[in-house]
Amino acid sequence: MRAVHNVNDLQKALESAELIGLVPTMGALHAGHENLIETARRECRTIVVSIFVNPIQFGPGEDYSQYPRTLERDLEACARRGADLVFVPSVEEMYPLPQLTFVEVTRISEHLCGKFRPGHFRGVATVVLKLLNIVQPQRAYFGEKDMQQLQVIRRMVLDLNVPVTIVGVPTVRDPDGLALSSRNKYLSEEERRAAPALYQALQAAARRIKEGERDVTKARTAALEILEKHPLVRVEYLEVVDPDELAPVSTIGSSVRIAVAIWVGRTRLIDNVFVNAG
Ligand code: AMP
Repeated sequence: MRAVHNVNDLQKALESAELIGLVPTMGALHAGHENLIETARRECRTIVVSIFVNPIQFGPGEDYSQYPRTLERDLEACARRGADLVFVPSVEEMYPLPQLTFVEVTRISEHLCGKFRPGHFRGVATVVLKLLNIVQPQRAYFGEKDMQQLQVIRRMVLDLNVPVTIVGVPTVRDPDGLALSSRNKYLSEEERRAAPALYQALQAAARRIKEGERDVTKARTAALEILEKHPLVRVEYLEVVDPDELAPVSTIGSSVRIAVAIWVGRTRLIDNVFVNAG
């Protein structure tokens, strides 16, 4: 495995590569990222992991400068899971000029996290399109934990005829249900004990829907009751949405997704589940 820091070296290393799989990350790798790399390893010949904390997807006052950076351990994890190349560009390498061009996926970017993080998905879509153009993979792997990001990227690739297959990979969780996230590192012990309420709330709402509940307010209430028991938790949004565009629904059809963002102290956590209402 080799780590490369600039676009030229990466493209040289990929000159005769076949069936490239790309796994874009921001580093601070955990078992969720490792699962993406392993999935890519099973399906592709050459695996590229990118590690880049992308400044243009962070808003003012967000955690860009505090974001955990653990490069040495990340490189070990990449090697262990079978990556061939790790692309670790600097900000200057990715944005050598002031960026004047941005990708905006309307509608899908506007609900849920898009409401609370203006410009976030524009930053994500722009950097992902840059990475796809740099690496030119046949397949690229993204986690379902960040479902809105996955749907934004899927739609960008369709709308712009980007020649790549986007693969969604199921969420990896701790045994108590908390979805793994680099941001879990920010939690104090007490906050970590409260955090599984996020998944418990999703499951409670999902259960109600599977039992036949079709009223969105009642399904949401089942989830909110659980979160409201925790004084450290503040709900940012909790919505029942359609599984494609992730727009909030007013009545529950055959399948929905429930998506939630909470603050636990100063840490923002998101999660979502798919519900087949039958
Ligand atoms: P990040 O480094 O947080 O930008 O995440 C890089 C990729 O890993 C994204 O496609 C995420 O959706 C995915 N990912 C993050 N956490 C998990 C998880 N717990 N399970 C599966 N995929 C994840």
